Amino acid sequence: MTDIFSAPHFRDDNEARKTLEAILWPDGPVCPFCGVIGHAYATKRAGLYRCAEKQCRKDFTVTMGTVMERSKIALHKWLQAFHLMCSSKKGVSAHQLHRTLDIGYEAAWFMAHRIREAMRAGGLAPLGGNGGIVEADETYYGRVERPRKRRTDGRPYVKEGKSANKRPIVAPVERGGNVRTFHVPVADKASVSKIVRENIARESKLHTDESPLYTAVGREFADHGTVKHTAHEYVRYENDDAIHTNSAEGYFSIFKRGMRGIYQHCKEKHLHRYLAEYDFRYNHRIALGYNDGDRAALAVKNAAGKRLTYRGPNGIGL
Ligand SMILES: [Zn+2]
Repeated sequence: MTDIFSAPHFRDDNEARKTLEAILWPDGPVCPFCGVIGHAYATKRAGLYRCAEKQCRKDFTVTMGTVMERSKIALHKWLQAFHLMCSSKKGVSAHQLHRTLDIGYEAAWFMAHRIREAMRAGGLAPLGGNGGIVEADETYYGRVERPRKRRTDGRPYVKEGKSANKRPIVAPVERGGNVRTFHVPVADKASVSKIVRENIARESKLHTDESPLYTAVGREFADHGTVKHTAHEYVRYENDDAIHTNSAEGYFSIFKRGMRGIYQHCKEKHLHRYLAEYDFRYNHRIALGYNDGDRAALAVKNAAGKRLTYRGPNGIGL
């Protein structure tokens, strides 16, 4: 790790800025006010550009409109933080960032959450499709802060016992592909069906365990294969498919080990951000052809557009 950080863009603010510009502006400076690409002058101050559009003429820098905007932390430290969070399988605690980057703990904490925001995916196409297999499974992690009353209507899918009052997470996972996790207040038929419906292409084959949560929604897919975990069945062969939910289980296991080891105290309201972080690393894992550097560059690229406002010169929306 220390060898990697000897690169100039990890050591020097100005070098880091140049790296950011290369990643975020491959076709020249992008004005965050009017959106024009490659039509700006460099000013005397390094990193400050002036839009050359007649109607605009505003000054901007590469961090405007990104999660790094208005941060007092030097850019090379941001790049180190991006790299650390993208390359360690289980994540990096704010304490570790605070020590490694020599910045205040609070600053490190905010930085980590902003990087998670950059890692968050949004508005994506459905998983699966083309007869692909998508597994769906749910798990429970951490105690809820306001315990719910037990339901008394006898419905079988209400978790009691060990999982009662824990935070439910629902995860559709493409076999050999991407994951998309959701923290829901309650994992019941309504919430689970909604996630499955909205995130998995209808032409996919759905694989789940025998939970009744998936029975009805399963009929909407090309095929619905189930394994009986309660009967210790973990894989079943049907036609040419191996029916299992091992990808989902594998994801949950990385997530839980990481959360227990690195992020012991995660408030419920932040759980979805941590999930976004684990999803991002999983979806850009080595097996899918990404190395640590690719992953960090992608997260940095994602850092743009998270705070864009798209305003015209007179405040008119574009
Ligand atoms: Zn402009």
